[in-house]
Amino acid sequence: MAIESINPANGKLLRRFDTLSLDDARKKISIADDAFRAYATVPLEHRALCMRKLASILEHESGDLADLITQEMGKPLHASVQEVLKCATACRYYADNASRILAPESIPTEDNHSYVRYDPLGIVLAVMPWNFPFWQVFRFLTPALMAGNVALLKHASNVPQCALMIEALVRRAGFPRGTFQTLLLESHQVESILADERIAAVTVTGSETAGRAIGAQAGWLIKKSVLELGGSDPFIVMPSADLDLAIETAVRARCVNSGQSCIAAKRFLIADEIYETFERRFVAGMEAMRVGDPTKDTTDIGPLATARIVEELEAQVQAATRDGARILTGGERMVGTGNYFEPTVLVGVPRTSPVYREELFGPVAMLFRVQNLNEAIELANDTPFGLSASAWTRDPAEQQRLVSELQCGAVFLNAMVASDPRLPFGGIKRSGYGRELSAAGMREFLNAKTVVIASAPTERP
Ligand code: NAP
Repeated sequence: MAIESINPANGKLLRRFDTLSLDDARKKISIADDAFRAYATVPLEHRALCMRKLASILEHESGDLADLITQEMGKPLHASVQEVLKCATACRYYADNASRILAPESIPTEDNHSYVRYDPLGIVLAVMPWNFPFWQVFRFLTPALMAGNVALLKHASNVPQCALMIEALVRRAGFPRGTFQTLLLESHQVESILADERIAAVTVTGSETAGRAIGAQAGWLIKKSVLELGGSDPFIVMPSADLDLAIETAVRARCVNSGQSCIAAKRFLIADEIYETFERRFVAGMEAMRVGDPTKDTTDIGPLATARIVEELEAQVQAATRDGARILTGGERMVGTGNYFEPTVLVGVPRTSPVYREELFGPVAMLFRVQNLNEAIELANDTPFGLSASAWTRDPAEQQRLVSELQCGAVFLNAMVASDPRLPFGGIKRSGYGRELSAAGMREFLNAKTVVIASAPTERP
């Protein structure tokens, strides 16, 4: 079968690639395996040099790389430029901080010397989604390569050009052959690759379906795994919030990446006292979003990445209305070519509706009125997911309760949730396990090896 790159703005086929056979994939695993042995001995300073070169290439070529992202998955060009530049920040963060994160840690014991050292594991397989086709990959590849691991990427089938481009960029930055390779595979081939004993670990960003399948297999094979899965993040607004800023941010937080972000705010829980104002102005904000050609500077929301995503979103909106929800604005795909969907606001989605518990991966918001903070926290936690939350209040007591009682991997107060190379990123519950970014992300794929050098032969209990 072929892997196709299709422009979601007009449905045109951009490129078609043959899927890699399992035999050819295994040859690439051999190359990675050889590369690991040599690469693990490459001094950290040299890896950092390559990482900084990679950052410079990204910065200098952000325009062309952004063009590729936009053509292949449809996000507005200005957002694609930001994505490429953010990848450069991750390169620089790990180039600057790897020596600190990887430094051996002395631990006082009765022995002469006890410490923990951090060793790379080997080949890390990454199964990645299309929504941030560069950033998702860079946030796993930068810590992996800085730590001395090598990597294989199975990217989403709709972004093969981005996948191949990243491999080429890594090589141009000076990383040795085989340290990072793209495998143009289909999802059903992942099982055979992961089963190869030379693959040490796997990281997955994507749907629950993918996470469950790969996580189960990794567990059975006893291989380390990190799962970054879906989210249905709450956006809570209490009466003391700066309402102007909260509403303006709420619209952005729902529409970021044309609504296709795991950490986009999806459920808006608004205090009764300010609900009417919030609803009116939020709907106006959603209606003001400019949907259209992603190459235009003025576009806020581009086409959704594939026709399937539009179909799924449309089906979810229809199911919600059948279950009793009301559409305040939008609700339908847009006529004409391209995978465009209207910015949509739903109210009254009943708790009994399956949609209430699902992720809406496009510009569709669900609004809920809450009587007080207790109800806001209860509703916020009433989801299978636990990725992150944005909460708006100037009341210190409310802030304290939100920080401690919201069940998720990150709480942002009076701000939109965003990933940052310096901060751990990841979820709990069905949003997955493990962390990316920061020191925590780097240590996921390291062996924390205990070393004890005895001062004199001793009897141990
Ligand atoms: P997806 O269908 O799970 O695809 C993600 C990747 O997994 C793709 O490479 C896909 O390959 C592969 N895949 C899918 N099913 C698989 C299986 N059974 N076995 C092995 N590999 C499989 O996810 P998506 O719908 O494209 O992406 C959106 C999802 O990702 C959303 O739920 C979103 O919230 C989540 N996401 C999470 C984060 C996070 O950090 N938590 C970040 C971004 C996105 P093919 O393309 O070949 O099918």
